[in-house]
Amino acid sequence: MTAPIVRFAPSPTGRIHIGNARTALLNYLFAKRAGGQFILRYDDTDLERSTREFADGIAIDIEWLGIKPDQVIRQSERFDLYNEAADRLRAMGRLYACYETEDELERKRKRQAARHLPPVYDRAALKLTAEEKAALEAEGRTPHWRFQLEDRSVEWNDLVRGPSHVDSASLSDPVLIRADGSYLYTLPSVVDDIERGVTHVIRGEDHVTNTGVQIQIFEALSGRSPQFGHHNLLTNASGEGLSKRLGHFSIASLREADMEPMAVASLAVLVGSSEAVRAVPTMDELAALVDLARLSRAPAKFDEHELDGLNAKLLHQLEYADVLRRLNSLGIADGEAFWLAIRGNVARLADAVLWSGVIAGPVTRPEDLDPDFLRTAADLLPPEPWDQETWGQWTAKVKEATGRKGKELFMPLRLALTGIDHGPELKLLLPLIGEAKARDRLTVG
Ligand code: GLU
Repeated sequence: MTAPIVRFAPSPTGRIHIGNARTALLNYLFAKRAGGQFILRYDDTDLERSTREFADGIAIDIEWLGIKPDQVIRQSERFDLYNEAADRLRAMGRLYACYETEDELERKRKRQAARHLPPVYDRAALKLTAEEKAALEAEGRTPHWRFQLEDRSVEWNDLVRGPSHVDSASLSDPVLIRADGSYLYTLPSVVDDIERGVTHVIRGEDHVTNTGVQIQIFEALSGRSPQFGHHNLLTNASGEGLSKRLGHFSIASLREADMEPMAVASLAVLVGSSEAVRAVPTMDELAALVDLARLSRAPAKFDEHELDGLNAKLLHQLEYADVLRRLNSLGIADGEAFWLAIRGNVARLADAVLWSGVIAGPVTRPEDLDPDFLRTAADLLPPEPWDQETWGQWTAKVKEATGRKGKELFMPLRLALTGIDHGPELKLLLPLIGEAKARDRLTVG
């Protein structure tokens, strides 16, 4: 097989959400795994609703998720190609002018309904003579343009859903160009896919209904068609569809909530697959787990709490080098030992700020701690240098001197040293706090 070429084609009319990210990632990982290419295509033919700001925002979201597009294209810069394709379809007799108004079409549909017929366009415009068309245009009507479907069953082997078909005779000839000359999504998408050599169209199953029509257009314009795969959609925890317009789980908001991109990517990809959902640390490893044929057909629920859990688990495995830059940008320069000490206690990376503050001090210790006990403990602090053994050696001496053990022994020390009743292992924190501060915290109120 030649290397696949895939595309992710958002319309920049809002920021992308986790469900869009699923589409982007499934495409990217499918291509990456086979050494293929990923195209980011902005479907911005709707010049009123699309904005450059949304497009730039989507580029940021995609990059944050770890996707590096090989090419970026914008439909708004490619109208010449669409016009040329439309001309070719006209010349083949597959794109025909229609003059019905919306009201007239509605009346036709009502008549069909009264006769229990499906609401399929009757192709009346195909029978118009040149004179009739000229007369309609003289009335001031401008045509919209329909693609003439061949009345046959269109079959494809869906990468996710398996053998699929649609009976084109049950479909209306689709409008490709509106009366104002603007393009609906259908034709530009096919033209771009042909021009860029797209081999696999992987998209949400809300697009299955377009596939029969698009395959016929692909075949008319290029004699062949790419492979199609329609993945299941994500819903929120209560089963409702996600909306870009309503800003549901936007990638921007997850980033602002300090989520790890690989936690988001892992969940977006693995939810609803036969793979156990887990936080996968790298794109390469995630790519190895993607198998379109094993995605579930049922909608998959996206659960924020699950993401929180994955985020924490992922952080707990990250190496210092993976987070160094971001720790620095949080104002933390405490070094590798710090990260290894605290990583098991952060649910979001920004929680590191709290632990950095605990080490730097000052800390506020509860007032009800026994000062005599703490003073005894302070007197027993060994001289530096300290390492991971220090805590055990020191507390053994404190135990011996005070007779305390277990929680009675450890909790007041933790509270005095950190001001918090839980947290990273003290054997790791103590050397980071150091003798001077530890002594201070044990002895000064
Ligand atoms: N712009 C379309 C969408 O956002 C692309 C559909 C496709 O991938 O063909 O749904």
